[in-house]
Amino acid sequence: MDNATRQALIDIVGPENVTEKIMDLVSYSYDASSYEHRPDCAMWAVSTEQVSRILSVANEKGIPVTVRGAGTGLGGLAVPAQGGIVLDLTRMNSILEISIPDRLAVVQPGVVYADFQAALAPYGFFFPPDPASGVVCTLGGNVATNAGGLHAVKYGTTRDYVLSLEAVLASGEVMRVGARTMKTSSGYDLCRFLVGSEGTLAVITEITLKVAPKAAHRATALAVFHTLEDAGEAVTRVMHSEVTPSVLELLDGSVISLLREHAHIDLPDVEALLLVETDGMTEGYVRFQLEKIAEMFRGCNAAEVELAATEEEAEGLWKARKSIGGMMGALHLDYIPEDITVPMSQIATFLRQSEELSRIHGLDLFNFGHAGDGNLHTNIFFDGNDPDQVARLEPLLYDLHKLACDLGGTLSGEHGIGMTKAKYLPLEHDRTALKTMRTLKQALDPNNILNPGKMGLDFFP
Ligand SMILES: Cc1cc2nc3c(=O)[nH]c(=O)nc-3n(C[C@H](O)[C@H](O)[C@H](O)COP(=O)(O)OP(=O)(O)OC[C@H]3O[C@@H](n4cnc5c(N)ncnc54)[C@H](O)[C@@H]3O)c2cc1C
Repeated sequence: MDNATRQALIDIVGPENVTEKIMDLVSYSYDASSYEHRPDCAMWAVSTEQVSRILSVANEKGIPVTVRGAGTGLGGLAVPAQGGIVLDLTRMNSILEISIPDRLAVVQPGVVYADFQAALAPYGFFFPPDPASGVVCTLGGNVATNAGGLHAVKYGTTRDYVLSLEAVLASGEVMRVGARTMKTSSGYDLCRFLVGSEGTLAVITEITLKVAPKAAHRATALAVFHTLEDAGEAVTRVMHSEVTPSVLELLDGSVISLLREHAHIDLPDVEALLLVETDGMTEGYVRFQLEKIAEMFRGCNAAEVELAATEEEAEGLWKARKSIGGMMGALHLDYIPEDITVPMSQIATFLRQSEELSRIHGLDLFNFGHAGDGNLHTNIFFDGNDPDQVARLEPLLYDLHKLACDLGGTLSGEHGIGMTKAKYLPLEHDRTALKTMRTLKQALDPNNILNPGKMGLDFFP
């Protein structure tokens, strides 16, 4: 970066908000994936005007800008793949308005997810998408990745809650898209077009989100299945029924044995567990829903269905599911956390065939995930110090993504494409769709300064 450009950037945010210190640049060179690349500088912006001026300078000079929230993305999304500026928005962290009569809130992008939930709680309201990284990730990051979580089966993902956005284009121009209403049919839906765009189309500087009343009651059950096929059939039957659970999670045989061995949880030696939760405003209705689901589980050969009678019992049933993350950390093994998603009716087929792929490629994997929306966390173990295992990783990943797409699924249910999955895009999207994505990117960011090197936008034909 030449001195005049450096000075122009310093003039916008002040010298204390631009850094070229090696320690800072190293911190900004990675996210929660294994990718890393160092930026030339990092900057903290506190207003839309500053973001606009920074992008004007960067666009004129052709400097890449990678916008960053908390950096918890799992696919190299916030890694500055081509250097340039990392634009940290975590100081734009004000909740500007909570309007319960309009059922919405207006926030800046750097608001931490958990802080937003805490601010909504006194009103009896909540923001339903629930990424497991919620204590640190930002709402800007959630919108840019279309984040989801355990409750997506009933409540949907971030996309379903974004009403309007203020965003800065690569040129520095500021635009407002969407509406402050529960519905709109006015023009192209540029608002949802930006959701999931991973910082490649615009920098989001203000977000208007729909919020929902929080259910007063919930009930939990755990079911044990000897075969994956019976568990898969149970998921299909529940999701085709008149009741919609708020959580429907699956743990397969391999994760069950890992939990037995490493988390010392007393679990049966079976191929699948299904954890289900129902929620609602009256205890009677919540219980009615749970009992209906338990009946369907039994009709699909569940060997055992345990219904929690108290909060403590519910916590006990959740223990296995909640222990997976900690157990993975404690194992100190290299693993790739996938978020492949298939139609719900194909869950058992995907799991069975992925076992076969694991055998063919000689790498262990285990599955758990949000069965109620088909979003499976297939985790692949490998030894990063063993070149032979590293070489077998990529063919296995390719085959798993191909299998998901062949079954009518998608490459990513919640983590996004970033750098990890860009090469698989042609497995899911046809040439015309890919060409259209690239045309749209070029229209909004002709100099390719916004998060270049992501989502395959630079290289597919
Ligand atoms: C332990 C763990 C658990 C996780 N669990 C889940 C989960 O349950 N569900 C889920 O969906 N994800 C999950 N994730 C992934 C990650 O937390 C989410 O993708 C989250 O939404 C990223 O938010 P962030 O603030 O960290 O964004 P970052 O990682 O900083 O950025 C992510 C992407 O968004 C872009 N971006 C960020 N802010 C803006 C903005 N203001 N304007 C334009 N683009 C922007 C960045 O350029 C980047 O491309 C998990 C990650 C970890 C490490």
